Amino acid sequence: MATASEVTAGFRELYGYEPDGVWAAPGRVNLIGEYTDFNEGFVMPLALPHSAVAAVARRTDGFLRLHSADIDAPVAELRVAELTPLSKYGQGGWAAYPAGVVWALRDAGHDVSGGADIHLASTVPTGAGLSSSAALEVVTALALNDAHELGLAARELAVLAQRAENAFVGVPCGVMDQMASACATEGYALHLDCRDLSIRQVPFDLAAQGLRLLVVDSRVKHALGDGAYAERRAGCEAGARQLGVSHLRDVPYVELPSALAKLTDEKVRRYVRHVVSDDHRVEQVIALLDAGDVRAIGPVLTEGHASLRDDLRISCPELDLVVSSANAAGALGARMTGGGFGGSAVVLVESADEDTVTKSVLDAFAAAGHTAPRVFPAVASAGARREA
Ligand code: ADP
Ligand code: MG
Repeated sequence: MATASEVTAGFRELYGYEPDGVWAAPGRVNLIGEYTDFNEGFVMPLALPHSAVAAVARRTDGFLRLHSADIDAPVAELRVAELTPLSKYGQGGWAAYPAGVVWALRDAGHDVSGGADIHLASTVPTGAGLSSSAALEVVTALALNDAHELGLAARELAVLAQRAENAFVGVPCGVMDQMASACATEGYALHLDCRDLSIRQVPFDLAAQGLRLLVVDSRVKHALGDGAYAERRAGCEAGARQLGVSHLRDVPYVELPSALAKLTDEKVRRYVRHVVSDDHRVEQVIALLDAGDVRAIGPVLTEGHASLRDDLRISCPELDLVVSSANAAGALGARMTGGGFGGSAVVLVESADEDTVTKSVLDAFAAAGHTAPRVFPAVASAGARREA
């Protein structure tokens, strides 16, 4: 993680005075429950140690100045009153994420009219399916909430951050990423009901069980903007309509066979089967974790991957290779995670098998001529917080 003192020093150098404080918000991996959030179903992410860290000072003159240590671009200087959705902000467009949060706060009637100076740095890999965008949004939301004394709860900040990404940046993401970044707790996975945003912290101390969850970043950059995500969303909405429910969350798993029999479109049928069965897999994983049978979640993860690969069709050869090579080398289970078409996979292993499984995945990638993936352990870490 970029340290609070590094980011403070960067702020001082850039703006010539001391920030009001330093805030951090993590990226996340999703253990189970994919493409279920916008169907008002269940997800189970955990926060990573990788975080966006922002030094922020409140202004009073209506200006918003934004800078990232990770982007080769000058300070973006904007006016809070003039923020407009779907405009190009800053070089490379990155500034739209924090600017969008300011816009979403303003639009919801919270007084951020004074503006702010922001300098940030992040260790969340971008475009790897680990929610670098949500980390950026949530750290901005939390910092402004504190600096402008808005008094909003973590859940409200997450919803505003999602609104920023949807309406201001123009990415139609669900609410999981922002909720994970805002509400996760160290040592726990977050069971989130995406209908009412109720959460339950589920103990997830793998080390105590002699287990490891590995994140394998395939190095294939996902691009959700290419329409595939929107196409899956539209297919799920069509399925819900045809089944006479508001969202696919309302189709009980036991009624899945009869629901599928009512659907004529082959593609819609596949999407519905994925979403309803993945909601069920979240419940299975929760039940196994509650029963202390952590190893048994492995096969559920692998079934989830098959569903994403065959029914939702959002995997790619590299992610399939992570799963097959890891499982062949003795992993307990594995699945792609996040939006798909690249990004990362999670692999559950016995701690003693970590090196063997990692080596098998690296060897399989080398043999297939793919860029070497990046492998690191996912340790359930803290959600957004004030650092200094
Ligand atoms: P993901 O959230 O899976 O990492 P996205 O495409 O949703 O991928 O978000 C990545 C975008 O977020 C980047 O292209 C960039 O605009 C912005 N971003 C992420 N991290 C940073 C950072 N440290 N500095 C500036 N912009 C960032
Ligand atoms: Mg993102």
